[in-house]
Amino acid sequence: MILWFRRHTLAAHLLVIALVVLLYLRWPAVAILVIVLYVAVLGIASMNMATNLFVDTLRHVHPGSGTEGEPGGQIALSFDDSPTEGTAQVLAILKAHNVKATFFIVGAHAAARPALLQQIVREGHAIGNHSYSHAHTLPFNRPATILSDLQQCSQTITAIAGVTPRMYRPPFGVVNPAIGQAVRASQLPCVGWSLRSFDTASSHPQRLLARITSRLTPGAIVLLHDYPAVTPQILPELLQEIKRRNFTCVLLSPETLRP
Ligand SMILES: [Zn+2]
Repeated sequence: MILWFRRHTLAAHLLVIALVVLLYLRWPAVAILVIVLYVAVLGIASMNMATNLFVDTLRHVHPGSGTEGEPGGQIALSFDDSPTEGTAQVLAILKAHNVKATFFIVGAHAAARPALLQQIVREGHAIGNHSYSHAHTLPFNRPATILSDLQQCSQTITAIAGVTPRMYRPPFGVVNPAIGQAVRASQLPCVGWSLRSFDTASSHPQRLLARITSRLTPGAIVLLHDYPAVTPQILPELLQEIKRRNFTCVLLSPETLRP
């Protein structure tokens, strides 16, 4: 069903329109309900990569030796939109705790702060592609434009840091048929997360820390950003808690990622 929808998205839209027209002739209220439901399903799937409706998304790492509710196992920390004005501080904290993370790089940010991207790579962290522009309008573009933006990001990273990203995380976590087509054409795995910290919307360090630590389970991929002021405030405590619970932070890669 999902594969059919991906291949024939236009046909699916046309089928629903035809159904709505037929229903409208006899049961107008039902026709409107079908439209509302269809748009709602597409909207939810666009905002929630876990539905896999438009593209297969990898949102965990291998859980490792721990099991749910027991100590130990593997998790992964990921930082989006880097490099930013907050990257250096986050790198220093990670270094002090001897923890490696994965940074999803925005090409335009890397072009503006090339030394920080080089530092991320030099210090042993993994990198992924997070688009060149990170534009709010990107999801509304044609697949070819989205693919070209993705490729520009990879080329920029390679030129600056000498490494080529092997994963893509769509900006804002938004997916749709055009983004799905572009990601499949890039042949890069699409990476999501299992634990969204909402650090960009948080101004309460203890609440943010509690949100993350209460949801940490083996195999989790944590979504963070390095530019909110609150993130470096909680990071040392978060890393201590991760160590106390015997979790190992692994780098994201096509080899470590799981659905
Ligand atoms: Zn982002």
